Amino acid sequence: MTQARSTQQWQALDQSHHLHPFTDFQQYAGKGGRIVTGAEHIYIMDSDGNQILDGMSGLWCCNLGYSQSTINEAITNQLQQLPYYNNFFNCSNQPAVELAKALVDVTPAGFNHVFFTNSGSEANDTNIRLVHRYYDLLGKPEKKHIISRKNGYHGSTIAAASLGGMDYMHKQFTGLNYVHHIAQPHWFADGGDLSPEEFGLQAAKELEAKIDELGEDKVAAFIAEPVQGAGGVIVPPATYWPEIQRICRERDILLISDEVICGFGRTGNWFGCETFGYEPDLITFAKAVTNGYQPLGGVMVGDKIANVLMAHEGEFAHGLTYSGHPAAAAAGIATLDILKNSQIIENSGEIMDYFQQQLRTLADHPIVGEVRGLGMFAALELVKDKSSRERLAPESAGAVYCRDQAIGNGLMVRAVGDAMVSAPPLICNREEIDTLVDRLNRALDATAGHYGLK
Ligand SMILES: *Cc1c(COP(=O)(O)O)cnc(C)c1O
Repeated sequence: MTQARSTQQWQALDQSHHLHPFTDFQQYAGKGGRIVTGAEHIYIMDSDGNQILDGMSGLWCCNLGYSQSTINEAITNQLQQLPYYNNFFNCSNQPAVELAKALVDVTPAGFNHVFFTNSGSEANDTNIRLVHRYYDLLGKPEKKHIISRKNGYHGSTIAAASLGGMDYMHKQFTGLNYVHHIAQPHWFADGGDLSPEEFGLQAAKELEAKIDELGEDKVAAFIAEPVQGAGGVIVPPATYWPEIQRICRERDILLISDEVICGFGRTGNWFGCETFGYEPDLITFAKAVTNGYQPLGGVMVGDKIANVLMAHEGEFAHGLTYSGHPAAAAAGIATLDILKNSQIIENSGEIMDYFQQQLRTLADHPIVGEVRGLGMFAALELVKDKSSRERLAPESAGAVYCRDQAIGNGLMVRAVGDAMVSAPPLICNREEIDTLVDRLNRALDATAGHYGLK
């Protein structure tokens, strides 16, 4: 157990010793952070006694909120039974086996195998390893290049960050030289005078052009999120995914669907590829698979690849000490049990429609240029001028201001570029959505006032 300390003492210790992810260390050392001490249902509590409605489901992972006692029990029971054993050297454990079967049951047809990791980043590293091995075994060792998208997010190990297309991340490390980025299907930012449908096709055709440039015999795979999450909830135009699917099929390029955010219900179906009607060869998952209660990720390996991997002798030289950790797997089984038994995803349509409708009432707000989203996540682009789409303030300062106002009003949301992003738990009710939208609206008002636009 942790000791009794005042908020100031916690903050001082934190500032002295704890390097936080995606944080400006200098700024943090001067300012300190919020000490989150507890959580219940869809609310988080801090050491100052604030209660904040979590409009982000933690980090897009606590899709069922914070009070799922059956997941806690599954984890603690498993720790009593078998706290750890590895899955190397011809050993296995019951929760890992059970979760593998449960995942096969909920993923689309043609996915019958899983490789476990502890995170989405490691799962995407694993994807590269799998894809390279697959083409080696097929006698096509030249096929090593991977195409991904600008402003995509695939994690933060070297390989995952290389796949990602975040400029500010690439500035701080040297990416893999066999990863290449094409445009993202972000109509509001890049669509210009094209219709969303025209723009979606144009963005997809960049994949074909990149394959031609690199040579079809050198390209192994294309990876993308169904909807870019961390990039700002960027929903591709309807024309985008069918064209991507066509290109991957015609050119013998594997398609990797990074479902770390979209998986397990966020888009209204079990997986985002189902919402958009495409058929990937590999699926990355993490985050909501355990409702965030334990670190767990992995890759669902489609039959096309699994059949080749299993038809050859020789070990796949990859694995992690905690691949298929029993306590994490137990959390995954319990999470999938809740999703299945309570039919959370099958019944989510109404509340998701309500969430999208209510957020769209904010489209009339003077500083909102676009409201987009689907399922249970959305983004609002903040503008100074609606028709020209001129940004509210340089360096995303408008969105940061608005986010801080929202948190001050008791609503946790995120600022991504010039957009406000929200992805609340799937278990919200209408009243809670009303509260979320009301608090966001007040933050928009305060922001408009701050910039003299009201
Ligand atoms: C969060 C995320 C990852 C990385 O997962 P970690 O568990 O943080 O390593 C990968 N892909 C997508 C789409 C994500 O949102």
